[in-house]
Amino acid sequence: MDGSMTPRSAPVLILLGPPGAGKGTQARMLEDRFGFVQLSTGDLLRQAVAQGTEAGRLAKPIMEAGGLVTDEIVLAILGERLTQPDCSSGVVLDGFPRTTAQAEALDEMLAQSGQRIDAAISLEVDDVQMVQRIAGRFTCAKCGEGYHEQFKTPQVKDTCDACGGTEMTRRADDNAATVMSRLDAYHAQTAPLIDYYDRRGVLRKVDAMRQIKVIGESIADVVASETA
Ligand code: ADP
Ligand code: ZN
Repeated sequence: MDGSMTPRSAPVLILLGPPGAGKGTQARMLEDRFGFVQLSTGDLLRQAVAQGTEAGRLAKPIMEAGGLVTDEIVLAILGERLTQPDCSSGVVLDGFPRTTAQAEALDEMLAQSGQRIDAAISLEVDDVQMVQRIAGRFTCAKCGEGYHEQFKTPQVKDTCDACGGTEMTRRADDNAATVMSRLDAYHAQTAPLIDYYDRRGVLRKVDAMRQIKVIGESIADVVASETA
């Protein structure tokens, strides 16, 4: 199929990387900078857990143990979200796909709506340091802005730079034991996707051991050139 005559469809970007790599932080940067919508399956699942839906009840114990929620549940939640109208300005997938089956299902969903993946951006990090990154992170309860005890502290202690909120939360699964399971799950089930997207010619690697802003600039460069 030759898409050159038709208008460009909404950009689809994927952020790949282990837990703690900074996918959420950089997805929010891309929202602000390019007007894309961040789709985090982790956030969608946490919402389902908080709302006590059927999917949420099934997902909760798996998430607490640091395992992967079933493809069936994740695909149902993500598939529904993808059809909402705000996604037409472009999406950044954060934490999805996480298995080859999810990647194949995504290819199919996109093909049905005449879309394709513009870039799968791999955040290259040093595993050992991910445990420390995750242990220090916390989030504004009001707006979701992410912080870190060492790498990104609020300007005024316990006050959100973005919205002024004063309640900070930590994720239930951000403890050392669960982080190790999440890293294992990443290596066993998600890391193979780096090859999957490399073979399709859409993989772009970014050194994600640098400062948040510097990484953001590299990612923005990739996005600007791949969606031009
Ligand atoms: P992180 O990337 O820091 O581990 P997320 O917020 O993306 O955190 O995910 C938290 C948890 O939600 C995961 O450990 C997993 O249990 C579940 N989860 C999120 N996305 C997926 C997915 N695409 N497939 C299966 N499980 C998922
Ligand atoms: Zn805030």
